Amino acid sequence: MNRRRFIQSTAAFATLTAVEFAPLQTISAFAKEVDDFVRGPVVKDHPLRQVSKHVWIIFSPDGFPTPENQGMMCNITFVNTAKGLVVVDSGASVQIGEMAIRQVKKAFKKPVIAIINTHYHGDHWLGNHAYVEAYGASLPLYSHPGTIAAVQGVQGNMWRTLMEQWTNQATLGTRVVAPSKPLQNGDELKFGDVTLRMHHMGTVHTPFDLCVEVLEDKLMLVGDVAMDRRIANMDDGSYLGTLKAYDTLEKTGSTIWLPGHGEPSANVLKWNREMFEGIYRPCEQAINDGLPLEEAKLLVLKDPRVASRARDTKGFESNIGKYVSLAYLEAEAAGF
Ligand SMILES: [Zn+2]
Repeated sequence: MNRRRFIQSTAAFATLTAVEFAPLQTISAFAKEVDDFVRGPVVKDHPLRQVSKHVWIIFSPDGFPTPENQGMMCNITFVNTAKGLVVVDSGASVQIGEMAIRQVKKAFKKPVIAIINTHYHGDHWLGNHAYVEAYGASLPLYSHPGTIAAVQGVQGNMWRTLMEQWTNQATLGTRVVAPSKPLQNGDELKFGDVTLRMHHMGTVHTPFDLCVEVLEDKLMLVGDVAMDRRIANMDDGSYLGTLKAYDTLEKTGSTIWLPGHGEPSANVLKWNREMFEGIYRPCEQAINDGLPLEEAKLLVLKDPRVASRARDTKGFESNIGKYVSLAYLEAEAAGF
């Protein structure tokens, strides 16, 4: 039993015993102390980097959570406005949030004044905890109403627990701090010199993704609607919805696409569109030809749009089988 495990089990036992003997206030005060004490370690500093006039990121080199990276797998974005900093996607733990706050305090003499969470996957909002601790409980946390309901509901604790498991408990101590201020398609938030316009295009990566357009910079924060050299988790998403969303996004006038995973560039949508076409279209063809899933998988792996990207794509080997199945099911459903 390692030290942290020992502390946990001892603490759990102590809490149980305390419940029987102590008055209620003492119990909750004690539970808080345990929570503060049993915390994963500090996350090492990752540098801030400027992407456009108003947009800065802390880049995450890894695509997936591990004990070594402590859940550092999602880019954290800061929009530098005359009124203060707006965070888009806060990272996967309170420790990552605290690391990001250390970086912005070194670089800017202004507070964080709002957070936007693009969707309910935990690597995009679990860091909220650190910001409300640093900037107060009245800090506005925005998201789509569907994301708000999901994080307040089962997705919240599910993602907190999953992240602890994937990181061997490096994220321990992180609390679920759900967004509460709703944003809809077309809504604009104005912060002095910067306008943020929301895009919700139906089911894309999840049913509730928001893309955040930084109008003055012609830059689009796409969350997980598009990725760069990483295959997206499509369990809650739609291939056709994604391709349709790219048509909409391409008409906005944005020239830089900043994804939650991978490098920002002018080519992110194109890269992702070709990858998804290469997965979905062979499945569609297989359905039309009455071929089984196994044959569809072979067609996908042979498709030049997929084959040319496979080696350079994080998570390809472990995820492609599952995501072909999802594409096949979607093509089957779309055929009826
Ligand atoms: Zn996601």
